[in-house]
Amino acid sequence: MPSPLGHALGGAAAAWLAGGRLREGLHAEAILFGTVAMLPDLDLMVGAHSTYTHSIGAVILAAGLALSLTRGRAPWLAVGVAAAWSSHILLDWLGSDTSPPIGIMALWPFTDAFYQSPAFLFDAISRRYWLPQEFIWGNLRAMVKEVLILAPVAWLAMRVAYRRRPQ
Ligand SMILES: [Zn+2]
Repeated sequence: MPSPLGHALGGAAAAWLAGGRLREGLHAEAILFGTVAMLPDLDLMVGAHSTYTHSIGAVILAAGLALSLTRGRAPWLAVGVAAAWSSHILLDWLGSDTSPPIGIMALWPFTDAFYQSPAFLFDAISRRYWLPQEFIWGNLRAMVKEVLILAPVAWLAMRVAYRRRPQ
């Protein structure tokens, strides 16, 4: 599963492609939607990794929260939040997972089943800090691969968002 860096790039790209935006502009959007795309992994702190926060249910809740916080006045913000959160689910599904439970609970609340792509685009990120070879070099290699794949996508998405913006 991708690193926070990969998720941030994927989240900003997804939000831009979906039309998510802020009044403050592209940099603020990159920071906000990139951060939103990292949030699902906070479930590591409560020992429930790859479960509820990695699901369509969480996407709906996050978008609903964004709509609620803006009192419905910023639907494009909610679209960006939904796209950024969804990108996390997609990227994790496309990533190799070496820590049980394998895969993500993508379709909760409809099912508690875990899903993983049969072909991996991204390498697993190791949290085994006591294995320096794997933790440092393995993670560095995985992050370079993520940037090589996702940075061009994010750049193109940013160009699309910029052109779509009212002048
Ligand atoms: Zn994740």
